[in-house]
Amino acid sequence: MNQHHIEVIVSADKFKNNISYIRERVQPSELCVVMKANAYGHGLKDLAPTAVAAGADYIGICTNPEATIIRDLGLDVKLLRLRMALSQELQESIESLNIEEQIGSIEAANYLSEAGINKGKKIPVHINIDTGMGRSGFYSNQIDELKRVCGLSGIDIVGIMTHFASSDGEDLDFTRKQIEDFYKAREVLKDYVDHKVLTHTHNSAATVRVSNESNRLVRVGAACYGVRTSQDFENPPELEPVMSVKTRVAQVRQVPKGKTIGYGSLFTTQRDSLIASLPVGFGEGYPRSLFNKGIVLIKGYRCPVVGRVSLNITTVDITDIPEPVEWGDEVVLIGTQGSEEITFEELADKFASVHTEINLMAGFMNQVSYV
Ligand SMILES: *Cc1c(COP(=O)(O)O)cnc(C)c1O
Repeated sequence: MNQHHIEVIVSADKFKNNISYIRERVQPSELCVVMKANAYGHGLKDLAPTAVAAGADYIGICTNPEATIIRDLGLDVKLLRLRMALSQELQESIESLNIEEQIGSIEAANYLSEAGINKGKKIPVHINIDTGMGRSGFYSNQIDELKRVCGLSGIDIVGIMTHFASSDGEDLDFTRKQIEDFYKAREVLKDYVDHKVLTHTHNSAATVRVSNESNRLVRVGAACYGVRTSQDFENPPELEPVMSVKTRVAQVRQVPKGKTIGYGSLFTTQRDSLIASLPVGFGEGYPRSLFNKGIVLIKGYRCPVVGRVSLNITTVDITDIPEPVEWGDEVVLIGTQGSEEITFEELADKFASVHTEINLMAGFMNQVSYV
């Protein structure tokens, strides 16, 4: 069934080009393409084969259903879970999903090791070092615990990792401190793990900004989707946005000066205006908080959202467009039209969020079509 009122377009080609660019840039490191949260809203099932074709050694996931999608596709790729697993998740993972788990506690390490011994195999794991993210992991000075983990016979330590808290910030001092702390843990573990162990620290922002020379794997999400990784730092021009979102004009109306528009009557026309109604609202994932702040593109012009965004309708001021706008004309919510562009970052800035949240709204509505 065709839907006409909104198009969420995902370019597998651009996704592939972005990954190839990152692949090249991080050589000879292995690459984990992060596809958690349904590939940041872009659609895991449809894009996973592209990620593998473009050279992903790993796909980063969080949940067992995500892992199941990849396994059902029969893709030859390693899976890395990007958070601590629940014991319930581990049972299924060990049985059939073959996910490389991160461990950040003795409890989880023991659980996995015992499961491995029972199964008669060594379960591949990554030791998570908390160097400042504060969500999970061992501190670098928990030397006894780290050594104990290394001594467990049912697990195989294939990776040692940490995660940066502010590699997207203006100031990289904290990231450098985290790297130093990680090196300490790596040094402690050196004699207890295979020399081929994959050490990994870098997410998108770090991959774009900080040398990765001494690590053997990077975990890149945002950059693969072409969204900017840092407010303080432009992406390399090679990275292009993968998703765009379009709708059409549902009605054009002449609205006299002094009329109010939308729920709460929070916008009043300050002049005789031309107002276009669009057939999308927060029900389609267009953020409600873009009230009086959002911008859309029509005929290549930037048009402000006026009044509250409704569940399925948004109103925009098109008075300043010098050419006629008609019922059914294309409207770009995110993407380019003519020489203008609206990025996820721009919208995210306007409603004080991160681009990923907007990607997810679009993806959450499951309205994606692939080109
Ligand atoms: C989500 C995640 C990443 C990817 O982060 P991006 O900024 O999107 O590249 C990397 N590592 C871990 C542990 C993550 O949870």
